[in-house]
Amino acid sequence: MQRSAIDLHAHWYPKEWITLLERDGAGHGGAVSRKGGMTHISGGGIANNIDDSFIDLDLRLAKMDASKVDVHVLSLTAPMVHWAPPQLGLALAQCYNDAASAAHRRHPTRFYGAAALPWQAPELAVQELDRCAKLPGIRAIYLGTNINGTELDEKALWPVYEKAQALGWPILLHPLRVIGPDRTERYYLKNLLGNPYDTGVAAAHLIFGGVQEAYPRLEVKQPHAGGTLIALIGRLDHGTRVRPELKHMPRLPSEYLRRFTYDTISHNDQLTLNLVRMVGADRVTLGSDYCFDMGYEQPVDVIQRLDLPQSDRDLMIGGNAARLIGLA
Ligand SMILES: [Zn+2]
Repeated sequence: MQRSAIDLHAHWYPKEWITLLERDGAGHGGAVSRKGGMTHISGGGIANNIDDSFIDLDLRLAKMDASKVDVHVLSLTAPMVHWAPPQLGLALAQCYNDAASAAHRRHPTRFYGAAALPWQAPELAVQELDRCAKLPGIRAIYLGTNINGTELDEKALWPVYEKAQALGWPILLHPLRVIGPDRTERYYLKNLLGNPYDTGVAAAHLIFGGVQEAYPRLEVKQPHAGGTLIALIGRLDHGTRVRPELKHMPRLPSEYLRRFTYDTISHNDQLTLNLVRMVGADRVTLGSDYCFDMGYEQPVDVIQRLDLPQSDRDLMIGGNAARLIGLA
C-alpha cells in the first residue's frame, strides 16, 4: 500500500514570525528588509533570503501537490531563534509554534509542526515544550547543530532531551552557524561543506558525550543524509578503540548509527543507497529542504528511482516519518 509522503525537512517562515522579528528584533541583532519580492531576514549575524514560497501556505500546498508530497512537518531554519536574548527567543519560538499549530488546524492532513525552542535558555525551552504539548499539530522539535557555539552534549541541555524523550517527540537537527566560516567564504562552501561538516560535529558530540546512551528512546534526525557522520564512522570507531580520550565509551560509535534517523538529501543515489545499507531503510526519511535551491524539487521521485524493494521505499517516503511523529 502506498503511504502518505511525509517531508520531515521542509522550511517555513510564518508571516507573523517575520513581523515579530522585524518589530522586536531591532536592537537585539535581528532585522528584516524586502527587495524585489525577496525578504531578507537576519538574527545574530545569521542571514537568509526567502521568497513567498517559504511564507504562503497556499503556494506551498500547490508545490507539495506538484511534487507528490502529502505532509510537511514545518520547521523554521536559519537564523532560527537561538541567537536572541532569552525572552525574545522565547517570544519568537512561541510565535512560530502558535503559527504552526494554526496551520495544522487549518489543514490537518497536510501540516504538522516542529517546535522552535529557545535552547539558549534551556529552562525556557522546557517551559515552551510543556506549552507545545497542548498545541494541536506540534509533533517534533527543532534544534541547530550547535547553539551559538555550544555543543549539543552540554549538560545544561539534558533536561530538554529528557522532556523530548518523555513526550516521544523526535528532535530534528539542522545546520546553523556552521564550522569554519573563515575557510569557507568562497564557492558557497559555507553551505556545501559547512552544513554537512557541522552535522558531523553535532552527531559526534551526541555520541561521545553520552546523550544517545542516556536517552535510549530519544529520536534524533540527522539532516542532509547524516552529513559527514557516515563517511567518518570507521575513523570514529578506530579512535574509540585506541585513544585515551574515548576510554569512557561503552560501545563503538557505529553501534549508535541506528539510534539516529537520516533524511534523503544527499544529492547522490549511490550515497543514499549506501546510507540505507549502513543504517537500514527503517531509519531513512524523505526530506526536500523545501524550498531552497540546495534541496529536491521531486523528493518522492528521488526515493522511487532507488534500486530498493518497494516496501523499503514506502518506509522512506512516509512510513518512518509517520512513526516518528506519532501518526502510525
Ligand atoms: Zn534545510
